[in-house]
Amino acid sequence: MKRIIPVFTTMMLLVACGDDNGVTVTSLFVIEKTNCLAPCSLEVENRSQYATTYLWDFGNGDTSVEEIPTYVYTEPGTYTIELTAMNEDQRAVFSKTISVIDPSACKTVKVFYVLPSDAEHTDRQQIVAKAVERNRQLWSRDGATFIVEDVVTINSSLSSNEFLNNNDDIHNNPDWNWLGNAVNEVIANTNVIMNDPNHKSIVFLEVDVGGFCPCAAAANFHFAGMPKWIIDRIEQGYDTEAGAIGHELGHTFGMPHENCDSQTAPKGIMCNGAGSGFGGFPDVRLTNWHFNYLFTDEHKGYFVETACE
Ligand SMILES: [Zn+2]
Repeated sequence: MKRIIPVFTTMMLLVACGDDNGVTVTSLFVIEKTNCLAPCSLEVENRSQYATTYLWDFGNGDTSVEEIPTYVYTEPGTYTIELTAMNEDQRAVFSKTISVIDPSACKTVKVFYVLPSDAEHTDRQQIVAKAVERNRQLWSRDGATFIVEDVVTINSSLSSNEFLNNNDDIHNNPDWNWLGNAVNEVIANTNVIMNDPNHKSIVFLEVDVGGFCPCAAAANFHFAGMPKWIIDRIEQGYDTEAGAIGHELGHTFGMPHENCDSQTAPKGIMCNGAGSGFGGFPDVRLTNWHFNYLFTDEHKGYFVETACE
């Protein structure tokens, strides 16, 4: 009587699948980051199946019935996000924990790619990310791993000309307007602040300053700036230009060009570049001279791996 067995199996499956169109509601979601700096915008992808309504519990008393909710955690803490997916007859529950981190508890390097309204190139975030990652790895090789965040692209309404010529209200020298205006755009479009003791920022500006002033790259007030030609050269594979990131980042940590002219290789980070007669950073290793700056109490938090990524 073996032929009967499949019939029973089918019937049992039908019962197990519930009585609503023969489907089973499942609850599932993924979140982009399980560690997130406050204020943390929850980026959630709802992968539940066969549900018609949803109830999100954010673990702090707040709820939402949206299929894909937008939610911002403002208070640091650990929260269990619970999603109940439902149809008329069934419900399923899935939960996941997120840590919302107090930004003052960790130090990170933020990276921004600022595009003017007339930008020729709008698709080089990957180049920027790669160059920064290369620096991160090379610093790490020498014992100074900085914690870097993803590249954030900012689409500006300012034209290239405005970046170069608008008074940035930061510098007295118009040669540096491009950097000040790029920083102003970052501040206007993000939660980054000026002189933030917990975050250094690298700002790539898709504007060519070469013909305007001799500014290769520049840094102060916790921001390092990289104009278009630096990105061009990095794209072409010139590591010395990638090294300019390390150089400018060094400035944001307070490193001066101490005796560059009279030094040979050991002054690595701050003495890079074509004029210095050697390979330059990132091919030159960090020295105790650098570590004195990098590992002061003020800065060492940048180089300690924490849950801040
Ligand atoms: Zn410099």
